[in-house]
Amino acid sequence: MLNLVWFRNDLRVYDNPALFQAMAKGQTIAVYCLADKQWDQHGLAPIQRRLIVDHLIELEEQLAKLNVPLKVIDCQSFTNVAGAIAQLCLEHKVTSVFYNFQYEANELACTEQTLNQLEVSGISAHGYHDQCVVAPGNIVNGSGECYKVFSAFFKNWSANLQHLARPLYPAPESQAGTDIFSDIACLKDYLIDTLPTDAWPTGEEEAHDRLNVFIEQNVKDYKQQRDFPDLDATSQLSVYLALGVLTTRQCLQALLSGRVMTHSQEHSQGLAIASLDVLNEGEACWMSELVWRDFYRNILVAFPRVSKNKPFTEITDNLPWNTDPIAFKAWCDGKTGIPIVDAAMRQLNTTGWMHNRLRMIVAMFLTKHLMIDWRLGEAYFYNKLADADLASNNGGWQWSASTGVDAVPYFRIFNPYRQTERFDPKGSFIRKYVKELEGVTEKAICQPSPSLAKACGYPEPIVDLKTAAAKTKELFKGLK
Ligand SMILES: Cc1cc2nc3c(=O)[nH]c(=O)nc-3n(C[C@H](O)[C@H](O)[C@H](O)COP(=O)(O)OP(=O)(O)OC[C@H]3O[C@@H](n4cnc5c(N)ncnc54)[C@H](O)[C@@H]3O)c2cc1C
Repeated sequence: MLNLVWFRNDLRVYDNPALFQAMAKGQTIAVYCLADKQWDQHGLAPIQRRLIVDHLIELEEQLAKLNVPLKVIDCQSFTNVAGAIAQLCLEHKVTSVFYNFQYEANELACTEQTLNQLEVSGISAHGYHDQCVVAPGNIVNGSGECYKVFSAFFKNWSANLQHLARPLYPAPESQAGTDIFSDIACLKDYLIDTLPTDAWPTGEEEAHDRLNVFIEQNVKDYKQQRDFPDLDATSQLSVYLALGVLTTRQCLQALLSGRVMTHSQEHSQGLAIASLDVLNEGEACWMSELVWRDFYRNILVAFPRVSKNKPFTEITDNLPWNTDPIAFKAWCDGKTGIPIVDAAMRQLNTTGWMHNRLRMIVAMFLTKHLMIDWRLGEAYFYNKLADADLASNNGGWQWSASTGVDAVPYFRIFNPYRQTERFDPKGSFIRKYVKELEGVTEKAICQPSPSLAKACGYPEPIVDLKTAAAKTKELFKGLK
């Protein structure tokens, strides 16, 4: 009897239900299927691909300490995964496969194909929810349907957390040695050069340390400071969450108990404390951001069209979204002539990450001022972000474009200059990324005059904000 853990978006040994359950049942080996052609098709960011590979190398070391060998197989595309896993099972006489669920359309199809093939071979399969604090589909309204409004979802989530939160798992105990060896040789072909990844050091320990430091030092000020891109006030844990190196369940546990649970602690079914009332303002605010992540996953599960390039509010597909390649390129390159938009896009292009407030500003500028199809922006982000995550990215884009669930109302269009005055009043963030404006005064940097911009070699705005916003509102208003 041998068990196989099929790793995917869960590159960790702590709080990993599939790994924990497999090892509890018996001797276990592990597999990860690389799929670079699939990643090409999805437009996955090179920086995230590199991070996956680095974390797989680290995972192999962590699994080796548990005597679990990891086989990495180069499958190229999802269509080859079922065959590769079945073949591995046959080779090693595996009788049960354990995996954590993924919810995106192609990932679901790949799971289904694999499960069918395993069934034909007489191998049992066991799936677990690991991505949300409360498994998707459990927080529902009176009619048993998925909430479409975040505040209602959040209220229900908070009220039922105590009995609906999924268990938290420590790292399993080490098993007896095996004569099956790890094989991760094919990773070398995936060690691509990308933007530097040192902002997110590899490994679970790093993620735990960052989480603990954030909880100890920063979370108390989160509510006041989280919207200022020049401050280091958010957790920057999104990359670890996107790869499954860390879970929101662990984040919540750390928030409630003050520290992330590690191997020395007992497997805990419940939460550390009974009530969320003890959370201070900053902690409560940060928790609600984690819940947005759960919320968007629930939306993805309940409304699969959002992972198939469709808007949540289908009528918005009747809007005359454009694809203007010149304006789109100016946006991508950070050359729109609007300093905060350009600084944000340059942050994305040079670091692989962008502050949340800026994500909203640039997404709204692209969709509401340039009226460019939100799907182009979504794909560009996905191709650049180290924390690229379909559910959150799609949710954020559809929120900004007013096409999504609980989205910003179409008539509330962020003015990027007003946003700068509120969230980067001295232009310190702009100065970091828009070098042309480095020496400009605090007063002028938010919205430089045409003559000043020209003197600095900085472009003039590519669009008149007022006219563009008015036109967009008219178009939304006339939607049929
Ligand atoms: C247009 C747009 C695109 C986005 N694309 C992504 C994406 O591809 N991947 C991604 O992880 N997040 C995305 N977000 C959400 C958010 O911007 C990032 O999660 C956040 O900036 C990550 O920084 P942090 O880890 O410091 O967050 P913190 O402020 O410390 O928040 C903690 C965690 O909560 C979650 N979270 C916070 N805000 C949101 C939110 N609005 N929606 C969903 N989850 C949230 C994240 O997992 C984050 O790591 C997007 C938002 C917008 C508006």
